[in-house]
Amino acid sequence: MSQDDCIFCQIVDGEIPSRTVFEDDVSMAFLDANPLAPGHTLVIPKRHHETLDDVPEDTAAHLFGVLHRLTPAVEHAVDADGSNVAFNNGEAAGQEVPHVHAHVIPRFHDDGGNPIHAVAGRRPDLSEEELDEIAADIESGH
Ligand code: AMP
Ligand code: ZN
Repeated sequence: MSQDDCIFCQIVDGEIPSRTVFEDDVSMAFLDANPLAPGHTLVIPKRHHETLDDVPEDTAAHLFGVLHRLTPAVEHAVDADGSNVAFNNGEAAGQEVPHVHAHVIPRFHDDGGNPIHAVAGRRPDLSEEELDEIAADIESGH
């Protein structure tokens, strides 16, 4: 189920070239065209799903398995000291390509970058009651 105007569907269909590093029936991984670090890799489901919410559970589990195997290979290939593995999940979170994808971004001790804690805006000032309420809502909402 590919979407004609989606860049990543076009990569899956071979209409746009990519430096593919892994492919199976369900998923694909390729180098990011505008890398934040050497080895910056994207992992996608082959079927078009916009955000994590839209991904069926078996596909999500499969993607995590691929990330689990691929991340050490990416780190090893560029001799990285670590990596950030993350989704920009939805437009508000900075997602630009509306076909869900995980970023594997190799990190180096001296790269001058930031931890994932730096991605959000101001830290909210939450009371104990608000924290309890949020935790309860999450617990009952899945
Ligand atoms: P996001 O903001 O999470 O949607 O990130 C989209 C990512 O896709 C960016 O890091 C882009 O550099 C990358 N990207 C866009 N077009 C291509 C392409 N044709 N091949 C590989 N990576 C791409
Ligand atoms: Zn797509």
